[in-house]
Amino acid sequence: MAPVVKSTSRPKWQRLPPKNVYYYRCPDHRKNYVMSFAFCFDREEDIYQFAYCYPYTYTRFQHYLDNLQKRNMDYFFREQLGQSMQQRQLDLLTITSPDNLREGAEQKVVFITGRVHPGETPSSFVCQGIIDFLVSQHPIACVLREHLVFKIAPMLNPDGVYLGNYRCSLMGFDLNRHWLDPSPWAHPTLHGVKQLIIQMHNDPKTSLEFYIDIHAHSTMMNGFMYGNIFEDEDRFQRQAVFPKLLCQNAEDFSYSSTSFNRDAVKAGTGRRFLGGVLDHTSYCYTLEVSFYSYIARGTTAAVPYTEEAYMKLGQNVARTFLDYYRLDPMVEKLAIPMPRLRPDAEPEATGEMRPAGTPSLAYRRHSTVDLVDITV
Ligand SMILES: [Zn+2]
Repeated sequence: MAPVVKSTSRPKWQRLPPKNVYYYRCPDHRKNYVMSFAFCFDREEDIYQFAYCYPYTYTRFQHYLDNLQKRNMDYFFREQLGQSMQQRQLDLLTITSPDNLREGAEQKVVFITGRVHPGETPSSFVCQGIIDFLVSQHPIACVLREHLVFKIAPMLNPDGVYLGNYRCSLMGFDLNRHWLDPSPWAHPTLHGVKQLIIQMHNDPKTSLEFYIDIHAHSTMMNGFMYGNIFEDEDRFQRQAVFPKLLCQNAEDFSYSSTSFNRDAVKAGTGRRFLGGVLDHTSYCYTLEVSFYSYIARGTTAAVPYTEEAYMKLGQNVARTFLDYYRLDPMVEKLAIPMPRLRPDAEPEATGEMRPAGTPSLAYRRHSTVDLVDITV
């Protein structure tokens, strides 16, 4: 792990070089591990901020969704599924072609959740990568919207995010251990999401095919998944298909780190609980991504994750549904010549990825200033 830093004159978060970060057992702290880092404060008038990982706040998230809503896309819907204990929004997004929402239409649903653990900010960047891609005009996104209904609750623990908690809700609960019996009073956001999923499961017109809960991991590298163990060997094998396909699409995703388990300690997680409730055609995963770095296939050097790399992983998760459902021929049909973009047009979702609400030129300008060059 290496902290990130920004200053008032260089507002883009940058990671400290690993060579300036030290871990050691410290005799002054009862031989506990201590992390320290060397850093040069080069501008007296600047205010400097340090963080464990790139922050992604509740406020930023709300602005991001407000901006998406303003685009009036007929395939993007935002609703409030509930409220947290401190009255913050539990947002639910639906991304699909309006045809799939007609009365009586059959739906294949992919359900995605994030930030149940509020300190795991990479979860939000991955989730934003998924959303940005799915609402784009990319032919793959158009085909996915035609065939699937994406239900996304990107921030399951808004109070924890707002308060700066690392793992818990306002009341001190680890919400990812309460899926078995969430209380509408003590765990209102979890209760709301669970009720919706169960309701969809009981609807004969709805086929809930995937549930993916996005987390960040503090010791492992790369992106990887946790899945469930089933007695049915065929189902167990089929569960490995999606992570294998994702591994082909994303250089930072590791199939070898992906594992399947039924530890007692994970019994209250969304992945374990829903894996036991949903039928044999549904797959439930935890998607983990490293807080720090990845080793791309065929290389040995660790590449520190950037905000853009986290979003790229999200984009690749979304694209993988095309392979899973074998929808490639549909994309070829759609691949008509695209109109030329104006020089000042926004980048497509497949191109440069950047934080929501940041003008692209300003973003490029900041990224050329390397704050960490001045570390010692
Ligand atoms: Zn987590």
